[in-house]
Amino acid sequence: MIPITYRLDSAAEKEYVDKVVSCMEHPETYSKKLESLLYSMGAIGWDILTRAKRFQFDYPKIYCLCQWIVMPYDEMEEIRKYLEGIIIEDLKSLNDSIREIDKSIKELTSYHDLKARRTKLYSKNPAVKKLFLEAVSYDSIYTAFKDFIKFYKEFPKDSHRVNHWIIEKTGLKVCPYCNIQYTYSRKTQATAQLDHFFPSSEYPIFALCFYNLIPSCPACNRIKSNATEKLASPYKKNAFKDLRITWDYKPSGAEDKYHETDSLTELEERIDIKIETLLKDENQNLDTMKITDAYQQHKDYASEIIKKIRTYTNPKAQKLICDIGASVGITPDEVERFYLGNYLNESDMKKRPLAKMTRDFYLEIARARGGGGSR
Ligand SMILES: [Zn+2]
Repeated sequence: MIPITYRLDSAAEKEYVDKVVSCMEHPETYSKKLESLLYSMGAIGWDILTRAKRFQFDYPKIYCLCQWIVMPYDEMEEIRKYLEGIIIEDLKSLNDSIREIDKSIKELTSYHDLKARRTKLYSKNPAVKKLFLEAVSYDSIYTAFKDFIKFYKEFPKDSHRVNHWIIEKTGLKVCPYCNIQYTYSRKTQATAQLDHFFPSSEYPIFALCFYNLIPSCPACNRIKSNATEKLASPYKKNAFKDLRITWDYKPSGAEDKYHETDSLTELEERIDIKIETLLKDENQNLDTMKITDAYQQHKDYASEIIKKIRTYTNPKAQKLICDIGASVGITPDEVERFYLGNYLNESDMKKRPLAKMTRDFYLEIARARGGGGSR
């Protein structure tokens, strides 16, 4: 639920291209296949082809492939819609025909689903096999690029350690989907996981695309792996801009929740952490990946941080905290991070777990108490 703001510059693009190409057999063959696919796609394909020309000087035989693997996220989304159109047509025609042959077969909902059930369906009824061969037009695109999954799997064996490089480039230390767990990355063996935002089981054609590879924690990667719902990518324009982590709490005393002086235990027992966004795809992330549920396990941290923010946003208490800090060599600039134990600036959310919750709680409480809302 935090955006990835990193964008490849032209030097990094070339570095990435070199790394990917070194894992591939016959990259020029795939570049040719991509070129003809892009020609068939209309305006979006032409746009990409036009921009691919900038690679022509350095990579004359594979310039389409180069542009493809560093294609910006919004273009990838356009292509995905185009491919999805083909898949939907395939599934519609198959569903109609299969239902006539075998009443027991339920509807196919995705290409992944179709692939998973194919062998079963073939063996059950030979007439179905004929249907598949005739009706599934996405198959040819899938087959043409399915080796991209294999090349991706070669990444970790590559001496350049592509996973590690990607994670370092993005500057992410925490999973962008949950902002709860670190994305551990160690040079030699263990690197953080990369989630294929558009699953490679359905879209192998995106398996090597930089902006489809999201450094993520194992929990998020696993829970998302088979999701068929439309989710929000951390690379999407203005991703998670209006998503807020808030909290509900009915104080036992007369004060409102921002001023109450209740105990930590009381707060922890009765607090309810909520995550709110008006966007459908971002809500789908929360639902599918059970993000709100994961936050309920951090009520202890939430309660502590709320108590700290309540005191820190009280001018008298803040002066005392600053005075104590100054007496032990903590500068005024450092006091805030020292006392709150996390980052508050939006650009720092990728550095430490639960920074987003800390920031959102801080903004909510500071605004309710009449200040600090300008961050
Ligand atoms: Zn995560």
